[in-house]
Amino acid sequence: MPGKDLRFEPMKEQDGFAIIPDTWKVDFYASAGELSRFFIELKDNARLMGTKCPRCGSVYCWPRSWCHDCYEDCDWVEMSGKGRVQMFGTVFISLSELQTEVPYCAGGVLLDGARYPLINYFRDIDFAEIHPGMPVRAEFLVPEKRLGSIRDFYFVPDQGA
Ligand SMILES: [Zn+2]
Repeated sequence: MPGKDLRFEPMKEQDGFAIIPDTWKVDFYASAGELSRFFIELKDNARLMGTKCPRCGSVYCWPRSWCHDCYEDCDWVEMSGKGRVQMFGTVFISLSELQTEVPYCAGGVLLDGARYPLINYFRDIDFAEIHPGMPVRAEFLVPEKRLGSIRDFYFVPDQGA
């Protein structure tokens, strides 16, 4: 709530649990450095980019500027946006202005070809049906709503997989 500093509010009790008021608000800018293309492509072209090691072929998305096995500089590659759920959870309390619609399901998706899962949120997914190995694909917000943020896209069930 604007103008109200929750840090000085008394705790509340609900169903035997202490609900502790607090405030997290930090405004800052951070450079994405060599990985800036990831965010620019999200915003401008609705493309999900990863990086690939020219020596061992590892593909990273989140992208890495260098391979952590070979220490080689990686090259940019476009990801298909398709993958499979590796882990997930349901979020009932939003701690971020980036995601205010609760409850929502978030988790890690191992994109096709990628070495590690990419964490983001799911939409249009049945909380009772989601499971490890479930095929999903990335969908992007419309251009006017994309900010160059990980929240410019989300995962939905991939019915065609
Ligand atoms: Zn490598």
